[in-house]
Amino acid sequence: VFQDIQGEIVFENVQFSYDNDRVALHEISLKMRAGETVALVGHTGSGKSTIANLISRFYDPSKGSVKIDGYDLKETDLRSLRCHISIVLQDTFVFSGTIMENIRFGRPDATDEEVIKAAKVVGADEFINRMAQGYQTEVEERGNILSAGERQLLSFARALLADPRILILDEATASIDTQTEVKIQQALQKLLHGRTAIIIAHRLSTIREADEIFVLAQGKILEHGSHSEL
Ligand code: ATP
Ligand code: MG
Repeated sequence: VFQDIQGEIVFENVQFSYDNDRVALHEISLKMRAGETVALVGHTGSGKSTIANLISRFYDPSKGSVKIDGYDLKETDLRSLRCHISIVLQDTFVFSGTIMENIRFGRPDATDEEVIKAAKVVGADEFINRMAQGYQTEVEERGNILSAGERQLLSFARALLADPRILILDEATASIDTQTEVKIQQALQKLLHGRTAIIIAHRLSTIREADEIFVLAQGKILEHGSHSEL
């Protein structure tokens, strides 16, 4: 299973709880079409990350099913699933090593040229080239020589290079200056192109651009539709 996937994601009456105590998702049914950009919005604790966790199969539903291209995730091999999914988290993961190694993370076989190309597409090469050692610059585990915006661009380059069918992105909430914000939005458009993207959205600009928005409240979908429909 899962040699090639389109990236359609369907939740059928999915119920889930982390601790049997409180229900995190109540009977959720939803459909994300292949290639679509989907925004998940809602207050803290509404279930956004839980939806992302079930798609990545960090957990299985207590009831109901999550399907990709019609295949129930419970019946799929985790490794073949994961190679189609990339996750970009708020607190972008940077490890100690060079910038080059950090971008190459999900695609160990990528050449230097491919790494640089990905960085260029998302506009990360500008800040990288400004550093004395360029792509050979060593960064620390917490990425502290990079600004929040730079870390975000680096993670976009990494995801673009990995080229997954499904991209899950937990948008950073850190305040970023307007100029960087514009760069990030442009990079995002390039990164999302041609894949199913699930964005836990915090920025209005992202929500506006999404094909479909799901508004969550207390583990349920309150409403969904495009920005103009809602
Ligand atoms: P935020 O905007 O704060 O990230 P969220 O919409 O992503 O919120 P979830 O993380 O999906 O919310 O949480 C949904 C519910 O599940 C909440 O009630 C939360 O307390 C609970 N929950 C989340 N993660 C765990 C966990 N690892 N163990 C137990 N309960 C959890
Ligand atoms: Mg969350």
